[in-house]
Amino acid sequence: MKLILANPRGFCAGVYMAIDVVDQMLQLCPGEPIYVYHEIVHNRHVAERFRGRGVKFIEDLDEVPQGSMVVFSAHGVSPAVRAQAEDRNLTAIDATCPLVTKVHNEAIRYAKAGYQILLVGHLNHQEVAGTRGEAPEAIQVVESPANIPNLVIKDPNKLVYLTQTTLSTDDAEVIIKALKATFPNLKEPPSSDICYATTNRQRAVRAIAPDADLVLVVGSRNSSNSVRLTEISQNAGTKARLIDDKSELRPEWFEGVKTVLITAGASAPEDLVHDLIVELIERYGGEVEQRDIYNEEVEFGLPGTLKDLMRTRGVDPAGRRVVREDSGPKLHGWLESRGIPHRTVDLTIGATH
Ligand code: SF4
Repeated sequence: MKLILANPRGFCAGVYMAIDVVDQMLQLCPGEPIYVYHEIVHNRHVAERFRGRGVKFIEDLDEVPQGSMVVFSAHGVSPAVRAQAEDRNLTAIDATCPLVTKVHNEAIRYAKAGYQILLVGHLNHQEVAGTRGEAPEAIQVVESPANIPNLVIKDPNKLVYLTQTTLSTDDAEVIIKALKATFPNLKEPPSSDICYATTNRQRAVRAIAPDADLVLVVGSRNSSNSVRLTEISQNAGTKARLIDDKSELRPEWFEGVKTVLITAGASAPEDLVHDLIVELIERYGGEVEQRDIYNEEVEFGLPGTLKDLMRTRGVDPAGRRVVREDSGPKLHGWLESRGIPHRTVDLTIGATH
């Protein structure tokens, strides 16, 4: 069997940062309870590993004892949640991805300028709840073109759209096209709100899926960008399965399959991809081909709230960078050490720095 590994795949800069925040807190505050509001990133294994180290994930700040520490997850929170944390005298460490914060800031700016905002995204997603909370009176969520007739528009000339960061670029295009057809003067955000990591992982799958008989996406079902990768693959005509790890593989999926494309959502740890490769090579034999489609060198700094906490604990945050424990998507050494036949095909179409 030929296994094609999509590059890029897996952890993005926001996920590295959010995971490092919780890691740092465990080191800074040994023995103290650490609460995280929502799963730090949408991945079952990441959450389970942190639970095993004593981290408590909560869905309501009322579950956090007064005066404790709480981390806001990568998906961001609304001002109401921040205010609630203050009321409860919590020390809030904000692991919101800066690219989510960018959308929050756009929402605030456009709402202040008197715009109505059409937020293209999934109504029940935590990120959308957070963004919406910045200007609830100005924001309406659009999940599909079917929602357009129900929008309440005061002035079609004072209308802007923003999007959730992890949408399928295919779906977003359809919705935005329908919005523009209905509201020709609809303003666009200054730059795409769909983040670089979502876009690049989708680009890679869109480019490679036609060469595969099956696409395996490593990621959790509550991970928006992972689910979108399966959809992008299906749109490209190749059946896709979303799996948390190798234990979910079913033999019947591989009947008549000669080429498998492996990718991973932005919150899926790379060691799960390694385990999957080993499992497939053991079961079916074969070789690995790494396909480089897009290079990423994006890195975010530590949040200011974490740096403040470090200072209060006598740790100088100067020069501290986000730790990237993951080995990254390029696996030459690892494949070599396991004697797995492999090669790399460089089809790079661009880079994000
Ligand atoms: S997927 Fe995009 S928006 Fe979400 S954490 Fe990663 S970089 Fe940030």
